[in-house]
Amino acid sequence: MQNPARVTGNSEALGELLPPLTANEAAVEAARCLMCFDAPCTHACPTHIDIPKFIKKISTGNLRGSARTILESNLLGATCARVCPVQELCEGACVLGAEHKPISIGRLQRYAMDHINNRKIDMFRPAAPKGKSVAVIGGGPAGLSCAGELAKRGYPVTLFEKRDFAGGLSTYGIIGLREPVDVALAEVEMIRRLGVQVESGKELGANLDLAELQSKFDSIFMGVGLGATPDLGIAGEEHIIDGLQYIEQSKVSARQMIIGRNVAVIGAGNTAIDCATIAKRLGAETVTMVYRRSENEMTAYPHEYDFIKREGVRFSFLTQPVRLLAENGRVKALECVRVSLGGKDASGRPAPQPVAGSNFMLEADQVVKAIGQQKPSLISKLGLKNGQGFHSCGWKLRNQFAGSVCRRRLHTRARSGLHRNGGAGWKTRGARDSRKVGSTWLIYASISLEFGRRIPSGWPPRRQPIPERRCTARSKPGGEAWCGRR
Ligand code: SF4
Repeated sequence: MQNPARVTGNSEALGELLPPLTANEAAVEAARCLMCFDAPCTHACPTHIDIPKFIKKISTGNLRGSARTILESNLLGATCARVCPVQELCEGACVLGAEHKPISIGRLQRYAMDHINNRKIDMFRPAAPKGKSVAVIGGGPAGLSCAGELAKRGYPVTLFEKRDFAGGLSTYGIIGLREPVDVALAEVEMIRRLGVQVESGKELGANLDLAELQSKFDSIFMGVGLGATPDLGIAGEEHIIDGLQYIEQSKVSARQMIIGRNVAVIGAGNTAIDCATIAKRLGAETVTMVYRRSENEMTAYPHEYDFIKREGVRFSFLTQPVRLLAENGRVKALECVRVSLGGKDASGRPAPQPVAGSNFMLEADQVVKAIGQQKPSLISKLGLKNGQGFHSCGWKLRNQFAGSVCRRRLHTRARSGLHRNGGAGWKTRGARDSRKVGSTWLIYASISLEFGRRIPSGWPPRRQPIPERRCTARSKPGGEAWCGRR
């Protein structure tokens, strides 16, 4: 298979949206940080990166130290710098946001991470070998973080990835405009250099046998992600393109993509926004996002909604597709019906009620659906549960990941990949379930594009309200008030 990085690199339309900060811009931005003592930005970060500390290191020119501070909390710092909803998290909590512009934490983090990734600088060395082996199934963010954290602690880890390249959502499922493939693959290489053996083209249930893994490894971690996009259950559905495949194609072979003249995207989440962006940027004349609720209920982040409106994408809210019309395999139109919103449904959102006689035809020659993802069938086959909550297994089990999840109790602590990225970190729904199979604990974590939308109550545990008083002020020589981190 072609390396997706090379192909996408030639697609300027989907090139990274924001340019990197220059050294001068980074220095100026870092100097604006108040280095708050109680740093609400750090509390708001799901991986609790010490943000004032890494920014301080940028301001003193210590970029390696800055990157190390980031990676100590989050091995996927380069990805998170680009795709984390910082407006909702760290930057949203920055004390400067109330009256001025918040610190560009994401872009500063990217600046520090790019410094070491572009130079292939390794910040960690594996600890002395501990001898207990671990199999990680799934090379997405959860699997990579888990593998990297365990490798740092000296455990031999083999990571099995069903695709040609590891990285999961980062490599294949996030539009290149937000995260180029190179960034995701650089992180995979960093994990590999920590000593993790990555075996691609290996899928559990296909050419990977669980019993065999149990006999070979002391423990197994499963980070297999979510499943396919569910069916809409409408006539002509076979002509509708899966949104995740649409994004993947834009990253793997953008130049070979067939883009419709009039594209309809069903859904209003972040994946749907990515699909609409791809269609618009790769040449569609009109792109219409079709959503059966109103803009108040759409799951896309507000900043992404603002972005896609600026791209010229149209919206058809309170609209439900009922049929896709096609002739000789070519899509002609999407028949829709207007809906009104009734009482709350099982999801807690107003239930759409079709309005009789309001059917209409939406002109479209390409229809893409991005309406969420199903539970992976593999999980139910193994008898694991996949609930709606983030942390169905609870703190105790998550903290015990490297102990109880492993057959022979690997004595590492809670700051494992599972804790950081499978349990509470970037775009993950957490460790959902665990089950003992023979003498091996299986633990399941899945990734989700909905991160940040449904943070469970009480998370983050130490989060505090943004203080009205910014922080303890001291006087700088010269009389100018400033805030110092003590
Ligand atoms: Fe964080 Fe305070 Fe700096 Fe904002 S000013 S980034 S809240 S330490």
